Amino acid sequence: MRVQCAVAGGGPAGMMLGWLLARAGVTVIVLEKHKDFLRDFRGDTIHPSTLEILHELGVLGEFLKLPHREIRDITGRVGRETLTLGDFSHLPTRCAFIALMPQWDFLNFVASQARAYSTFRVLMEADVTGLRESDGRVCGFVVATSEGTIEIDADLVVGADGRHSSVRAKAGLVVEDLGAPIDVLWMRVSRKPTDPEGLIGNLDMGIVFVMIDRDDYWQCAFVIPKGRIDDVHARGLPAFRERIRSLVPFLGDRVEELNDWDEIKLLTVVVDRLKTWHRPGLLCIGDAAHAMSPVGGVGINLAIQDAVAAANILSAPLAAGCLSDGDLRRVQRRRELPTRVIQRGQLAIQDRFLRRALESRAEVTVPIAMRFLQWFPVLRRIPARLVGVGIRPEHVRVPKADSSFSRRSPWR
Ligand SMILES: Cc1cc2nc3c(=O)[nH]c(=O)nc-3n(C[C@H](O)[C@H](O)[C@H](O)COP(=O)(O)OP(=O)(O)OC[C@H]3O[C@@H](n4cnc5c(N)ncnc54)[C@H](O)[C@@H]3O)c2cc1C
Repeated sequence: MRVQCAVAGGGPAGMMLGWLLARAGVTVIVLEKHKDFLRDFRGDTIHPSTLEILHELGVLGEFLKLPHREIRDITGRVGRETLTLGDFSHLPTRCAFIALMPQWDFLNFVASQARAYSTFRVLMEADVTGLRESDGRVCGFVVATSEGTIEIDADLVVGADGRHSSVRAKAGLVVEDLGAPIDVLWMRVSRKPTDPEGLIGNLDMGIVFVMIDRDDYWQCAFVIPKGRIDDVHARGLPAFRERIRSLVPFLGDRVEELNDWDEIKLLTVVVDRLKTWHRPGLLCIGDAAHAMSPVGGVGINLAIQDAVAAANILSAPLAAGCLSDGDLRRVQRRRELPTRVIQRGQLAIQDRFLRRALESRAEVTVPIAMRFLQWFPVLRRIPARLVGVGIRPEHVRVPKADSSFSRRSPWR
């Protein structure tokens, strides 16, 4: 099989890139190793900047018909106080809110939009196991599928296969580990209609517990110091449940639903960045280029912004068959600054605040920076801007190809 672009990974970065390239008339195949998008271990936040991109693509109205909750400010309980830390209402975007929606709904929506283009194809249960190379240039993927191994040749292969990217490892790209002092335990607790709505962050007595509203259940993240899962297990499940109940009393007896460690999954947090995001014929984007911490919930936003920038820069040379290494360099140059700034902010919060908060069993005192946000509400626009839009927001610059491009489709 030969295409102009082959993408490993059907997460936010890979699916968005596939959609935008196909829309620009580039033949593209996205390879996703799972059989569907229905997985728990994903963030659920669709940021104002992503909603803006959906507007630019003409599908925002349709997207917002899907069930979602609108988060208009960032609030959290720190110690005994409920604090407002961000205010999205002043963002210069069409939607001044985060849409909270299960990520599989978002990815299914992107897939349905992309499938409207005959130049697009997504192959599920397609695990990228190797790179094809010729004269020092990456020229394709080796892919294990349910029907056997296939080889796909492409003018460009993209690693969008997340924070444990095998593409970047096989390409020998050098990774800079930036350190993450936390891991996350991921679990569900049922939700009652009388519970609060949206996203709830709780921090006190050495516990950081974030709850994501998925309508009839809470998807919960319990943050622990890195590598300390054995200590949590040794203290026992009743003690673990009691810690959650003491922090979030309205859950009450529902914490008893956590009656087996198998229901509580460990997600290891990684924060890293590639020194160089590309090699001749290959580019990495999203977490494969820069694994993001869950702090601030911005990784999906960065992944999508990478995809938009890559499509803006690469569509024309790919369609014309004249892609150069300089084009790949331009993608990194465009996206590296926003990545560095956001990662630096995440590391500062992890190291100066979260690490200490997890080590202390005492009641938390509200940090001075958070106090300032209560005294001067205008300052809440800064965190809202960083989370909701980020730095150097991208816009769709590539026009939709005229329909004659569909004749290039390799699937017809
Ligand atoms: C616990 C936790 C919570 C988070 N919460 C949030 C949040 O609320 N909001 C937010 O914005 N960010 C959050 N993040 C960060 C966010 O999840 C990532 O930054 C974001 O998902 C990156 O998108 P991506 O498309 O680059 O990679 P991913 O979302 O990781 O997608 C990669 C895809 O590639 C597929 N894949 C992997 N290997 C292969 C292969 N060999 N062949 C084919 N397919 C492959 C995977 O199955 C996956 O579908 C969180 C991170 C963690 C760890």
